[in-house]
Amino acid sequence: MADNCKYIFVTGGVSSSLGKGITAASLAKLLQSREYSVTIQKLDPYINIDPGTLNPYEHGECYVTEDGAETDLDLGHYERFLNVPTSQANNVTTGRIYQSVIDKERRGEYLGKTVQVIPHITDEIKESIKKLGKTGKYDFVITEIGGTVGDIESLPYVEAVRQLNYELGKTNHLVIHLTLIPYLAASGELKTKPTQHSVKMLLEYGVQPDILVCRTEHALNQELKNKIARFCNVEPTSVIEAIDASTIYKVPILMLEEKLDEVVLQKLGMETDSIHNLTKWRDFLDKFQNPKRTVTIGLVGKYVELKDSYKSIAESFIHAGAANEVKVDLKWIHSESINDDNVSDKLGNLAGILVAPGFGRRGIGGKVAAIKYARENNVPFFGICLGMQCAVIEFGRNVLNLEDVDSSEINTSAGNPVIDMMESQKNVTEKGGTMRLGAYPCQLQDDSLALQVYGEKNITERHRHRYEFNNDYTEQYKTGGMNLTGINPDSNLVEIVEIPEHPWFMGVQFHPEYKSTVANPHPLFVGFVKAAVSVSELIHS
Ligand code: GLN
Repeated sequence: MADNCKYIFVTGGVSSSLGKGITAASLAKLLQSREYSVTIQKLDPYINIDPGTLNPYEHGECYVTEDGAETDLDLGHYERFLNVPTSQANNVTTGRIYQSVIDKERRGEYLGKTVQVIPHITDEIKESIKKLGKTGKYDFVITEIGGTVGDIESLPYVEAVRQLNYELGKTNHLVIHLTLIPYLAASGELKTKPTQHSVKMLLEYGVQPDILVCRTEHALNQELKNKIARFCNVEPTSVIEAIDASTIYKVPILMLEEKLDEVVLQKLGMETDSIHNLTKWRDFLDKFQNPKRTVTIGLVGKYVELKDSYKSIAESFIHAGAANEVKVDLKWIHSESINDDNVSDKLGNLAGILVAPGFGRRGIGGKVAAIKYARENNVPFFGICLGMQCAVIEFGRNVLNLEDVDSSEINTSAGNPVIDMMESQKNVTEKGGTMRLGAYPCQLQDDSLALQVYGEKNITERHRHRYEFNNDYTEQYKTGGMNLTGINPDSNLVEIVEIPEHPWFMGVQFHPEYKSTVANPHPLFVGFVKAAVSVSELIHS
């Protein structure tokens, strides 16, 4: 472990969405495969304290860490690539930086000084970067600066990087700039000018990038690399091609071929002859790219127009598909498009149905109809959070035949509120960071499908919810045929529901998707896909 932590900054230029998160995660993976310990941090320049209050359409999925931080979805990539948990310290926003500075000002900690962007905001940014290094746990801290160089809102972050440049010393840090080399189809040429301009802009702010990672649709020849190097004051070996990849999971291998990690180590004055151990990664990639068959699973949700809203679920299916040596063809189905009349047309060809997490009333009817269909037709069913809550509603209405069954999130005066607000939530008025968040323990019942799938009795999973199974209905559900097979041992909260009569029916109050990684595909997703494979073999036999 490190007593001399190295800092790597990843900035982005020319355009957003070039994949800074994947570049950072790929470099981290390569360094980790050489047995270094690495963590990745994302600095987000927006003013929200965290993305927890953002609509998924705005910002995609909100990713939840073990310690209950609501964070940017890039942290999901970091965990999926590295198989190491992240925490609140790995995601800092401008809102959080300002909040901390303003709190200090109110406490009088600035001793009468005028509080300013430089030095107070930049000091706070630098502290949040060095905080991870100071834990002594990491050889490398990779910090991804959100946004694009030139954005007004990311200026203080670039300034903090400039200041750290001399504070940390030459061999303790470096800057990687991710940029775009556009291809002009009309002239059949790759263009370097936007990259030159973006590096010039960084230089204006006093930051000279050490390495350029160049996103491109076509291979960069040596001549082009030399040209970029000449104009941007970097060595030709520090111009790294990042060609479009068919899957994000190939990027570490492409970066390995381009020697990104070797150049990083050289520049930091570290030895480069350690051997990469990427056996497990390559094995996963091989299975993912050469599936033996395809299985079609439906994802029923209300944010399906923006696939990033369900990022971790989609990635979990990639891991679980590879573990089963199948390709999971995920069909994205809008819950508002489903009703009792069209449900068999909409869901008829699926080998499995997942009902997604969510908030609010919109699309609930379609979710309940999809669950009824899965239950009655023995289609493997997996409900996550709101998906589990809808399974409880559906069972109450259609099997227990209770009247006026609902979740109090949807109908506050339901006659049978089988899903009700948690006691601890009843006096909560603020929205941000106030749900039941993060990892909690769960004990699995003997003879349950959950125990069979997990292979261990005591598990912990991450949460993000305000409502829960109403324990007043425990006996009715058990007698009626829905088992409550996972319980929080401290609070008695129901974590898992199952229907033993059904081949594979599982609803979970927690979010297993946050914990699935390449090295450790989540057992529930692996089990669900396996069940779907058996169904699809029956359909096609
Ligand atoms: N809206 C539900 C709750 O707050 C479910 C949340 C979720 O699906 N993440 O309990």
